[in-house]
Amino acid sequence: MVIFKKEVLEDIINHAKEVFPIEACGYIAGIDNKFLVNFRMKNIDNKPDHFSFDVNEQFQVLKKTRSMGLKILGVYHSHPYSEAVMSSEDIRLAYDESVYYILVSLLDGIDVKVYKVKDGKTSLVEFILE
Ligand SMILES: [Zn+2]
Repeated sequence: MVIFKKEVLEDIINHAKEVFPIEACGYIAGIDNKFLVNFRMKNIDNKPDHFSFDVNEQFQVLKKTRSMGLKILGVYHSHPYSEAVMSSEDIRLAYDESVYYILVSLLDGIDVKVYKVKDGKTSLVEFILE
């Protein structure tokens, strides 16, 4: 189970809505299993079905996270036109089994799901708000 700070969940949903129909993407930092802050990232692919981070921006966020005494716990992205389910490409790119993968779907209302990926298999992680 992970714990979302309310503002973090709200911000990733707002981010997804604001850049619609492009995929929103970013990092979530925190301590242990607590999602305390999110960093909105630019989707340099600028596409509704794919995202890539900018390497320099990535570096800046990692530096900032460290200076705040936090760790990167998760990577989030939105699915403007599909369910909050990891696509085969999402799974292929999810090479870090210690990281949580968060999906925000705008397909039918709003749906947020948290996953872990190990050996090409996803498992759903429960979350609560704080
Ligand atoms: Zn995806």
